[in-house]
Amino acid sequence: MKNITVIGAGTMGNGIAHVFAMKGFKVNLVDVSEPALQKAIQTISGNLDRMVAKEKITAADKENTLANLSTFTNFEHSANADLVVEAATERVDLKLKIFTELDQICNPDTILASNTSSISITKIAAATKRPDKVIGMHFMNPVPVMKLIEVIRGYATSDITTATIMSLSQQLDKIPVEVNDYPGFVANRILMPMINEAIYTLYEGVAGVNEIDTVMKLGMAHPMGPLQLADFIGLDVCLSILNVLYDGFGNQKYAPCPLLVNMVTAGYLGVKSGEGFYSYAAGSKELVVAPRFK
Ligand code: NAD
Repeated sequence: MKNITVIGAGTMGNGIAHVFAMKGFKVNLVDVSEPALQKAIQTISGNLDRMVAKEKITAADKENTLANLSTFTNFEHSANADLVVEAATERVDLKLKIFTELDQICNPDTILASNTSSISITKIAAATKRPDKVIGMHFMNPVPVMKLIEVIRGYATSDITTATIMSLSQQLDKIPVEVNDYPGFVANRILMPMINEAIYTLYEGVAGVNEIDTVMKLGMAHPMGPLQLADFIGLDVCLSILNVLYDGFGNQKYAPCPLLVNMVTAGYLGVKSGEGFYSYAAGSKELVVAPRFK
């Protein structure tokens, strides 16, 4: 594999483009938004600068990485990609449309991967005429730092596609783990009920925000408490993944906590909106519990 297209230049897309370009792959980074592409290149450049300052890479490595990156506002230039990794906004209709178009544009041999957190790979694959070559490649945030790639086999994904992506993930110095395509895969099926339970614990008045996160940090050696992690992921994202679990299994145990539903409805989405379980003043690194939970 030489040529990679990454679709979506947001939080995940820029990180995915970064790791491929650093390993010498030619990367076409595609986004419908030109400002998103510019911001992505700035972010990648800033992250590479930090790696140079820490002497993890040389200034020449940085220049080579940036030289491997090209940006586009459509994926017409991606017909010859060996692999496409889609990391666009988490919406089913959007992903189905992107995969239908990719299937028409790309070589018949191109593998089409999605970085989706929760949408069925089997469903995305069914929008193409190559379901054996569609797979989940679920990177973790922040991509350049996190080692795991959850490699998700759709119902029709072939052994050869899976083996190719497992080996490619290792070439990126990541650790791939193969899982099957059921709601939430493995990571979010286990993580989201824990976050939901933490929110129920707060909602029922068992303990406060700080107390819940401290128990999980000091008691279970989690680097971040579940409420802080929910703020970091985005409460809207947490809610939508819980709804995927709830709808997919039809089991009451995945029902989102009413407090989470209220917070998302009112626009308290965590870090990205400035307030969730904690308040995020611009530039401040201190963790401050939001006034309504004090
Ligand atoms: P984001 O909102 O930061 O970025 C999404 C980008 O997709 C935006 O720049 C948007 O302009 C672009 N986009 C929208 N429609 C497009 C189209 N038709 N063609 C090309 N680009 C398009 O989102 P994100 O957090 O980077 O998430 C991207 C994907 O990664 C989602 O599927 C999400 O579930 C998954 N994911 C996110 C995280 C996380 O922590 N943020 C972790 C793992 C997986």
